[in-house]
Amino acid sequence: MNASKSIRRLFKAGMSLLLTAAWLWTIALGASAQLHSAVHADSQAPAHQCAVTEISHGKADAPAPVLTAAAPPALRLELPLPSPLPAPQDIDLRLDPGRAPPA
Ligand SMILES: [Zn+2]
Repeated sequence: MNASKSIRRLFKAGMSLLLTAAWLWTIALGASAQLHSAVHADSQAPAHQCAVTEISHGKADAPAPVLTAAAPPALRLELPLPSPLPAPQDIDLRLDPGRAPPA
């Protein structure tokens, strides 16, 4: 792995952590009015609008997550073929196997 890929992975991990923390912080502010008023002094005002109030009132719109999964590897099942059966034209149906022609 070269340094560029390592930096990119570190950046992605950092951004994921940062955005997750921001989302959890916003949810925590929405769940606790005291915490929200500690951050926004006018949080009790009817005209107050912020990300917390928008999310609390269900105004946040996010696209539905697209779930992707890797396709399972193709399973190929091979069974051994049974021993070859005699062709129908090779079977003599004129006499039963236990019967002999009249002597
Ligand atoms: Zn607010």
